[in-house]
Amino acid sequence: MCDRKIQIREKTEERLAELPIVQYAWLEAGDIPFSEHVREICREECPRYGTSWSCPPGVGTVEQCRARCMEYEGAFVFTTVAEVRDISDLQETLATRRDHEEVVRQLGEIFEALGAKTLALSGDSCARCPDCAYPDGPCRFPGQMIPCIEGYGIVVPLLAEKAGIEFDNGRNLVTWFGILLWK
Ligand code: SF4
Repeated sequence: MCDRKIQIREKTEERLAELPIVQYAWLEAGDIPFSEHVREICREECPRYGTSWSCPPGVGTVEQCRARCMEYEGAFVFTTVAEVRDISDLQETLATRRDHEEVVRQLGEIFEALGAKTLALSGDSCARCPDCAYPDGPCRFPGQMIPCIEGYGIVVPLLAEKAGIEFDNGRNLVTWFGILLWK
């Protein structure tokens, strides 16, 4: 690893205590597992499918998403955890995603302040606007849009295993994943 990358890692580590990150791992972009099967689950089971530029099909094919990720070198994988009264209550569970997305944004700012270029992915579709412009118009804030990890075709349980990060932190605890691709 070159001196610049080592310095970015070290300086980022110094700032992590400012954020409510539960676990994290430094991977290479090439370690991220992709699968067309995840895209099938999006299509068949996710209500956000076809409603956001941050989700399929608006986000592009799995191969296009993979190629976008491979433009970066490192992959900082992390989780935040939110407690809810009832994890089967989708509305309550999804309401916690904004806090996680804020952590993703802050982490991106830390990397960028250190001179890194980044691509952020989060655990759900982009929540930047109350109503996504998809499909009638282009994304209003392409520079701030945070695509969904699964929407990219990434196999999160396998990613968690590779990263040594808990996929599930227990009853009524929502585990949100984030990935900061960087170079
Ligand atoms: S920034 Fe707005 S328009 Fe763009 S993907 Fe997010 S919600 Fe949709």
